[in-house]
Amino acid sequence: MLKGRFAPSPTGRMHLGNIYAALMSWLSVKSRGGSLLLRIEDLDPQRSRSEYAKLIEDDLLWLGLCWDEGGLDGIGSASPYLQSRRSDIYENVIERLSAQSLLYPCRCTRADILSAQAPHQSDGRIVYMGKCRPAQLHPLTDDEKHSGALRMVVENRIIEFTDNICGRQRVNLAEHCGDFIVRRADGTCAYQLAVVVDDAMMGVTEVMRGEDLLLSTAQQIYIYEKLGFRPPQFAHIPLICNEQGQRLSKRDRSLSMEELRKQNTPEELLGRIAKLAGLRRDASPVTLHNLIEIYRNTVLRQKNSTEETGLVI
Ligand code: GLU
Repeated sequence: MLKGRFAPSPTGRMHLGNIYAALMSWLSVKSRGGSLLLRIEDLDPQRSRSEYAKLIEDDLLWLGLCWDEGGLDGIGSASPYLQSRRSDIYENVIERLSAQSLLYPCRCTRADILSAQAPHQSDGRIVYMGKCRPAQLHPLTDDEKHSGALRMVVENRIIEFTDNICGRQRVNLAEHCGDFIVRRADGTCAYQLAVVVDDAMMGVTEVMRGEDLLLSTAQQIYIYEKLGFRPPQFAHIPLICNEQGQRLSKRDRSLSMEELRKQNTPEELLGRIAKLAGLRRDASPVTLHNLIEIYRNTVLRQKNSTEETGLVI
């Protein structure tokens, strides 16, 4: 059964880019008879607000993007769908990774990590150089299991995967990020681990999201491997930029749903997004019903014909 998901973080009102990702995830599964779940990724206690989670639901429903499972009401067999209520599940998984001697505690501050950066690391990426990695890895002690930051060891090898939109990817985690955080110092599960555990346990078969997460996918595939879960299909869509060519952020008020809802009807906004997504040449109003037809006749038809010739779109 095809199952997609939309997994927003309730750290602000959604903007055009978030809605674009939601619409594409929805179209991808709905045009093929699949279902969509809504998971609220509220792991960051400092930035997440329940008011924003309610607004996310309200904005999705205003556009007609209904979900079949999840959300604040937590309807579905994999409940709860709020990450802040899933800590027991994450602790269990940490136990499993610990038993494989894949985790170790880390006490580095951000300053420690930056000062240990290789000099050529100029693209802003932070690669952890392994300061806290013990010479001999072992399962965590009881104390380590229950508090403090934890890192997962990576291997010096290429992880390969095929993204349904961006094509074949090859990432060596040792060069890309080094051993990475799976539990933060405040005890909350880190995004990379939580997203794998949740997508796997919720039966997600397709992850469609913004291209900014393309390279994190290698970390996630590595966790899938170590936990013995089957990874979903991945499809990363291009990010929407503002007029200055910068990636939209929740601070860009002009393209926030608050403004967009004042200036557009749902059909007008769907029309604008459909044009941005390359589904239509013009930005005139369109219904979700029509968009499903358009999606089937364009994206799916193209996908089927490329699959026949063995190419990746
Ligand atoms: N919660 C993440 C965000 O809102 C998305 C994570 C994902 O789709 O894997 O940016």
